[in-house]
Amino acid sequence: MLDENSGQLFNELPDVSIDGDYTIDPSAFLREHSSDPFACPCCANVFALMLQNSGIDLAEQAQSIPRADYPLVGSGLVINARIMTMNPKMPVAESMWVENGKIRWIGQHRDVPDASSGADLIDCRGKVVLPGFIDPHMHLAPVAMLIAFEDVGPFRFPSVQQALQQLKQVAASIRQGEWIMGRQFDPSLQQGPDSLTRDLLDEVSVEHPIFVYNASLHLGYCNSIALDLAGITADTQSPPGAEIECDANGEPNGVLKGGPAMALVVRHNPAMKQQNIAEACLNVFTKASAVGITMLCDQGTGLFQGTKELDLYRGLRNSNRMQTRFRYSLGQVIADRWDELGVSWGEGDEWVRNTGWKIVSDGSNQGRTGLQRDAFLNSDSKGIAYIEVDELNAAVEKRLREGWAVCVHANGDAAIDRVLDAYQRAADMGLDPAGKRCRIEHCSILHDEQIDRMAVLGISPSFLIGHVYYWGNAFVEDVFGLEKAEKLDRTASCEAKGIRWTLHSDDPVTEMNPLRCIENAVTRSMWKSEELLSAEECIPVEAALRAMTIDAAWQCHSDHEVGSLEVKKFADFVVLDRDPLKVEARSLSKIKVLETWVNGKCVYQL
Ligand SMILES: [Zn+2]
Ligand SMILES: [Zn+2]
Repeated sequence: MLDENSGQLFNELPDVSIDGDYTIDPSAFLREHSSDPFACPCCANVFALMLQNSGIDLAEQAQSIPRADYPLVGSGLVINARIMTMNPKMPVAESMWVENGKIRWIGQHRDVPDASSGADLIDCRGKVVLPGFIDPHMHLAPVAMLIAFEDVGPFRFPSVQQALQQLKQVAASIRQGEWIMGRQFDPSLQQGPDSLTRDLLDEVSVEHPIFVYNASLHLGYCNSIALDLAGITADTQSPPGAEIECDANGEPNGVLKGGPAMALVVRHNPAMKQQNIAEACLNVFTKASAVGITMLCDQGTGLFQGTKELDLYRGLRNSNRMQTRFRYSLGQVIADRWDELGVSWGEGDEWVRNTGWKIVSDGSNQGRTGLQRDAFLNSDSKGIAYIEVDELNAAVEKRLREGWAVCVHANGDAAIDRVLDAYQRAADMGLDPAGKRCRIEHCSILHDEQIDRMAVLGISPSFLIGHVYYWGNAFVEDVFGLEKAEKLDRTASCEAKGIRWTLHSDDPVTEMNPLRCIENAVTRSMWKSEELLSAEECIPVEAALRAMTIDAAWQCHSDHEVGSLEVKKFADFVVLDRDPLKVEARSLSKIKVLETWVNGKCVYQL
């Protein structure tokens, strides 16, 4: 068992112990949740298993993070800037006076207050300044866990050959015998063989053990030396709920299906146990700064290592080393544990604060587990409900009564129906989902009348806009057909109804990158295609910028302190090399983030 805090997902079936050292719970793989090969971490528990395999205790690691003396804070006078404030009362400015992390004054150069005369000058050389970007839905600990592995996925390497070439280069650069860990291999998007078999990986190296995770994290691939270290032979039995795949001669071919099978190999990599997830979280913040993000929101706290994740967050906050503000939603899956702890909404400060209660109502559309009104293309299946209607209604009601802002993951149209019903029911009882800025996460397939309902109820969607770009083609051709696929991520229709909406990465589902998200929403282009997906849903750049700044701040209950550049808010901003309103739409993602500032301090410089 993972730990007493890890909740119901892990407590229902007996554990299987593998040589006493590690304990793997097969139930996690027998449940429908984890059979979804594309599930986002809010509905997949593979991460909990990865962590379990490594034997890492987040609470322990959080205690030992080296500390800085005090949190980041800076002062200065921003000059020579074209500031797009995202404050409708003063949309543009030239100069901004920052004192102790906060904006004391902002306006035109000629009006700079005399009192600012001693301030250090922050010369922006005529570049565009925007409020720091906010990603309102990602998963911190899972991203931290993966960050150390080599990305050999389709967005870096279109073909399997290129991915293998990269692994060869890694092999040439490390000490003999050291493990090579890869991630993101995705045969559905990468040209070449469907599996990284033992033979293919032996061509990369017979000196280094190699282990590569499939993008879904439900499959792994390894070479001969890794199999040898694990003692896996033709005689080795597959662990329950998992499979050691064999070739025609009955020999293991290097393909491992399911966490328990992968664990047999991965646990022999000493580096897994030495991973410092707490430090890796700080690296995730560094990575966020490099793409202009100044605030992140984790949407599913507790699914990784139960309530210990709060210890992790506390440790990060107390380290004084945060360079990205952090918000989080508690996962409903361990509701009882949160209740025992007595956590209430809004706890924390401007660096780390809980701002939501997260419920997962279905799976994913690309994994065909999103709950649909009609069956998927060429299939009888209508997807999977991850929570029963009664339970959903009760949870939404209970958490609204307690003062929580509720965020419900819903990808399929039928799941969205259920979520809207639950919010409607709560509103009919006199509760206030609109006032609490309740959200639908992903909110992928939307019909007109659902958009009308959202407008009336005041429910706000956050779109995983990478769905359009990365999986748009798959939705059209394999999952839904064109007519339904065109109902994906309907930003312009929501905009037209006056609904506040945002964009998110759901990292590790797609990588955090606000300018890429903005480009995806503005162009609706699809990967490896000349076509656009429902061009009528394209939105102006201004709207996409709002979605990733002030509206994301609003969804995360932080618009009183960040999201726009105005007096009394924190000086969280980015300096861009080109003006997003002036570049060609298909070049938006190529705009460079020159600098990222948080609390008046520069945390990233190109
Ligand atoms: Zn989700
Ligand atoms: Zn998610």
